[in-house]
Amino acid sequence: MTVGILYDNHIIKEKKKNMKIITIIGARPQFIKAAMVSKAIIQHKDAGIEEYILHTGQHYDANMSDVFFRQLDIPKPTWQLQCGQESHAAMTARILVETEKVLCTNNPDYVLVYGDTNSTLAGALAAVKLHIPVVHVEAGLRSFNKYMPEEINRILTDRISTLLFCPTSTAVNNLHREGIVEGIYHVGDVMYDAAIVFGKIASQYSSILSSLNLKSKGFYLCTIHRAENTDNRERITSIIKALTDIATANYPVILPLHPRTRTCVEKYNLLPEIAFNPFIRLIEPIGYLDMIMLEKEAAVILTDSGGVQKEACFYQTPCITLRNETEWTETVNCGWNQLAGYRTENIIRCLYTSTHKTNVSEYGSGNTAEKIIDIILEL
Ligand code: UDP
Repeated sequence: MTVGILYDNHIIKEKKKNMKIITIIGARPQFIKAAMVSKAIIQHKDAGIEEYILHTGQHYDANMSDVFFRQLDIPKPTWQLQCGQESHAAMTARILVETEKVLCTNNPDYVLVYGDTNSTLAGALAAVKLHIPVVHVEAGLRSFNKYMPEEINRILTDRISTLLFCPTSTAVNNLHREGIVEGIYHVGDVMYDAAIVFGKIASQYSSILSSLNLKSKGFYLCTIHRAENTDNRERITSIIKALTDIATANYPVILPLHPRTRTCVEKYNLLPEIAFNPFIRLIEPIGYLDMIMLEKEAAVILTDSGGVQKEACFYQTPCITLRNETEWTETVNCGWNQLAGYRTENIIRCLYTSTHKTNVSEYGSGNTAEKIIDIILEL
């Protein structure tokens, strides 16, 4: 059934009534992306669009999951699976089986997935086999490194998606090169929407600078969690060595440690090197508001995270990426990001290299989530 939406006394659009979307999320960056789209859906509830959230449990700790639902005001999941802490195959398989049950009994019009995790791939695969159209937000990203589990998840999810919402023109071109030409929309990046909205809230409410006793632009912020770094003794040792070399009283390193990284540094016996260094501040993973506050105020960010590289660029904080390649090539082209890889000497060289920096306009205008929902409704 369709209804006309009245605007300025004219019927401008026919919109579908009572559309049901099931959103599948499970990992930290997905909560942040989904927060913005869920808000846009709530704003369009008069158009008859309903969202139900399935949380796969891929990330389940309070500081990797609950804090994001609370701070970002994400609707409570309708279904909560417990598919974390398993091998890639076991996790993907369990999410696939459990998601299929939910989709069969609830029959949504669309399944919405984000990014590149096992939850993304399993959710998309369960849906497409039931002939439910898949909407992929953050489609078309490629690192061209198939050793990354995320790269496999992205390629396969894009292949089976009906609507592909791309954050950048590079992402659109990547899809075209793979022969995917239909259902592609270049809409911008929902993480940029989030960075704008929550950046202001963080400046108002986060007290992390005073609680860690940090000066604006007087510290380095570091996150490490990519398997290529954490699961390789040589790489993680070399990165930790760089951190111990650069950390000083004037520039301490703040290191919110991802659970996977903690397990690996314990396994490789690197924890004492970090924990006993007076200038490295090892902390638990932090909530989004505190994190973006630290990103804004850091002198330099060192990271292997995709989202953190972009946020560094959004907030115009120089970034050193602890990888050899990036999906977010615009951040390098505009001079805010340098690719250092894992070697200590390269990381330190990047720290003292000054680059020519320009504004980046590739990520949209802060209304990407709105655009996505408008497009879905218009279809
Ligand atoms: N983040 C956070 N707390 C932390 C570390 C990261 O809120 O302790 C946020 C960060 O601001 C970004 C997102 O988590 O928005 C990135 O997630 P992650 O690095 O886990 O995944 P990736 O982006 O690499 O897929």
